[in-house]
Amino acid sequence: MNITYRSTRSDSSESVTASYAILKGLADDGGLFVPVEFPVLDTPIEELAQMSYQEVAFTVLRLFLSDFSDEEIRDCVNKAYDEKFDTDVIAPISYADGAYYLELYHGRTIAFKDMALSILPHFMRYAAKKNNISNEIVILTATSGDTGKAALAGFADVPGTRIVVFYPKDGVSPVQERQMVTQKGSNTFVVGIRGNFDDAQTAVKRMFSDQALGEKLDRNGFMFSSANSINIGRLLPQVVYYVYAYAALYKNGRIKAGEPINVTVPTGNFGNILAAYFAKKIGTPIDKLICASNKNKVLTDFFHTGNYDRNRDFYVTSSPSMDILVSSNLERLIYLIDGRDPKKTAQLMAQLGKEGSYDITDDMRGQLSDFYADFATEEETQSAIRELYRKTGYVIDTHTAVASSVYGKYVKASGDTKPTVIASTASPYKFARSVVGAIKGDVSGYSEIELIDMLTELSGVAQPPAIIELKTAPIVHKTVCDIDKMNDEVLGFLGIRE
Ligand SMILES: *Cc1c(COP(=O)(O)O)cnc(C)c1O
Repeated sequence: MNITYRSTRSDSSESVTASYAILKGLADDGGLFVPVEFPVLDTPIEELAQMSYQEVAFTVLRLFLSDFSDEEIRDCVNKAYDEKFDTDVIAPISYADGAYYLELYHGRTIAFKDMALSILPHFMRYAAKKNNISNEIVILTATSGDTGKAALAGFADVPGTRIVVFYPKDGVSPVQERQMVTQKGSNTFVVGIRGNFDDAQTAVKRMFSDQALGEKLDRNGFMFSSANSINIGRLLPQVVYYVYAYAALYKNGRIKAGEPINVTVPTGNFGNILAAYFAKKIGTPIDKLICASNKNKVLTDFFHTGNYDRNRDFYVTSSPSMDILVSSNLERLIYLIDGRDPKKTAQLMAQLGKEGSYDITDDMRGQLSDFYADFATEEETQSAIRELYRKTGYVIDTHTAVASSVYGKYVKASGDTKPTVIASTASPYKFARSVVGAIKGDVSGYSEIELIDMLTELSGVAQPPAIIELKTAPIVHKTVCDIDKMNDEVLGFLGIRE
């Protein structure tokens, strides 16, 4: 099946190749690329169960990346899922208190964004070649903390690419800052800005749309691109681990062939859970997709009422990567449940932009029966960490705890006890203060390093390389600038002097 891609907002009948969609990131009309139809995963489960993570990745990705050769996909997979991960199986599963925790945090930055950002740079290199682009790709990113580091780690030392990350100098945690400014790789550049995240984000968006700047880059052999989570090249690698998890449960005798499972995902931008929906669409026997939110429960309200409304208070929680009021990837689901009608999708998104809210039709709501949604308060999140630890000794991070809590609510409400995979999105080491606090009570007197050592004692899990490096790695990025000097910093890094 030759799979091509179309923007959620374009009514042109033309579709584009996978490589073009990856290179573009966002369509010119502001829409997101979606496959024109879903391929079918027809590899028998017995075969999938014998495969390594890399082989499953190859099998799933080749269904979607129709204009990549098998060799190219293999090369991307092998370069992405190698010893950067601290376990051969890449995504191990731990059983605890009635659920399967799919640990997606064994990569470089100990959070699940590594699963996609390890492979995206390699997709991009091939995509550039296929589209006859000889310019070097310059990834521009504004970050509020986590994405920046995962993108840096993914692109570091990948030939043909450079990456520039801007972060608010006083707006990220000390650990997050340290992770970024110690980033190795001669093609990486990290800049602290005097301003907040929104300032950084706005300036980066302006650079992307600055035509004169684009032309200047082109004359000097460069082009901008984005590693943003709406890039289809980030979504597709996330489909892989749901297929892999299903095959692993089968292999270990936990489920019979074809037996349906449920999946619970701690959700922010709606990328990870949408990948699970894609896995279901290509034929993985997934029944319910349980969408877990924290106190910023826009999505819970949306699934319960059909009304999406970002006009509300924003809360800073202990699961910061889910503190989001506009879940960008939801646009893809809207498009799919509305008969793939780009006009209607564009209309709803325009309404979201203007009024901050929109309503979907009863017809569309009728197509959301695959999903269940709920949220966890801060107290419930802490208690999920504490209770799981008391019962089993297994330690989860705050984001995973939101999912764990919501899964408990789902079982209570539905009585459905199908085998359930919970996407475990970050290592507890990444959020040591909140995690140790949840288990032991007040930890305000302890330093970050002390808390990390306490966590080792509690969990018995060795400290991942990312944490050990953090303690000793030298600081290599020291640039700090004002908002209006960001352009100059980029040009300086690229050596453009005109
Ligand atoms: C990004 C992130 C999430 C949210 O994932 P989405 O794909 O944006 O829904 C959840 N947990 C962690 C640790 C994350 O970094």
